[in-house]
Amino acid sequence: MKVVVINSGSSSVKYEVFESSDFSVLSSGLLERIGESESQHTHRAYGPSGTTKETVRRARVANHEEGFRFILSMPANSAVITNPAEILGIGHRVVHGGEAFQEPVLIDEKVMETIRELIPLAPLHNPANLLGIEAARQVFPGVPQVAVFDTAFHQSMPPHAFIYALPYSLYALHHVRRYGFHGTSHLWVAKKAAAHIGKPLTFLNLITLHLGNGASAAAIRQGRSVDTSMGMTPLEGLVMGTRCGDLDPAVPFYLRRATKMPERDLEALLNKGSGLKGICGVNDMREILQMANRGEPLAQLALELYCYRIKKYIGAYFAVLGRVDAVVFTGGIGENAAPIRKRCCHGLEALGITVDDGKNEKDYVEVLEIQRDGAPVKVLAIRTKEEREIAEQTVAVLLRAQEGEGKTP
Ligand code: ADP
Repeated sequence: MKVVVINSGSSSVKYEVFESSDFSVLSSGLLERIGESESQHTHRAYGPSGTTKETVRRARVANHEEGFRFILSMPANSAVITNPAEILGIGHRVVHGGEAFQEPVLIDEKVMETIRELIPLAPLHNPANLLGIEAARQVFPGVPQVAVFDTAFHQSMPPHAFIYALPYSLYALHHVRRYGFHGTSHLWVAKKAAAHIGKPLTFLNLITLHLGNGASAAAIRQGRSVDTSMGMTPLEGLVMGTRCGDLDPAVPFYLRRATKMPERDLEALLNKGSGLKGICGVNDMREILQMANRGEPLAQLALELYCYRIKKYIGAYFAVLGRVDAVVFTGGIGENAAPIRKRCCHGLEALGITVDDGKNEKDYVEVLEIQRDGAPVKVLAIRTKEEREIAEQTVAVLLRAQEGEGKTP
């Protein structure tokens, strides 16, 4: 049987198909520009001997439902799913689960309604995720669907970590609080770190750093998230590709007065025109590293700011946890950018956090251990696999549901 993982955006659908018995990846793809005059579908089928067959097709696709039908209409020689009966379940990435969802759930009308009610907290993401769920339910009517939430892993945070120092009534009435995101990735790398260290996750304290286009840090005590840097929205915390992260909350009011900028433009500025891009004009870390090497001062400043903010969070979360077994880097930057890992840990020797240059520069497949020999804290780079984590959680939910119904899987 197969498990399909779907990440639905407002005009795109990303998917990955897994074999449910061993979670090997059979295919992945992206349908983009849904609703425009021409949509593009890129599909990759992975052969058993490591071969990849890529197919690119273009057509007009009006909406997500048509999109799934179009994806299913792949020529038989490259399709991985020829019959929906082969699908054990579909796992959907849902960005905001609010306080309603502490773990993944089987999707029914009530779950859909709750995700809809959470739209004010995630106005860009939840409607797009719902489009994908609704379309998948139409196209695969008999197939169980599971929602896996980016926020769920962080629901274990204590109130002193998730309540903002605003009037408490704003939390009670308007749900204003820290939720945190990237939960699937933080959990995946935490589990991988535990397997690598050879201890149960429930024995370990970790600081995990997901550094992609978005970026967040998490403090994990005995396997549970106790604090994270993203807040009510993914704008808070670390410096990101285009998002500012932590900011004096008075700055947007000041900018409104000083520039007369409309609120919508200001929101776009903080989300899309700030962070690394705001400082040096570029948000791609590979390019910034090259620019900095060429001596461009604003690229150097962007790097400095980026790593300084991460270092501050490592220090803060060390204080939160008291004892740290490992610091874990992941996401496109955390996994691949050795100079960033080195800079973020520079000067943290007193905390037992070190980086060995030789180890840090090595190629690796899944986990790279980079602390100096004998250092008390492990420093790891781990490749995240959010889709795989969603696939595993989907199967776990389906097995639990079957057990609840008294069926053997
Ligand atoms: P997303 O958050 O969109 O999933 P990724 O996790 O793929 O993004 O991270 C994208 C970032 O990773 C980009 O800034 C990219 O430049 C950076 N990146 C990828 N590979 C490298 C590399 N080898 N060295 C430095 N940065 C890299």
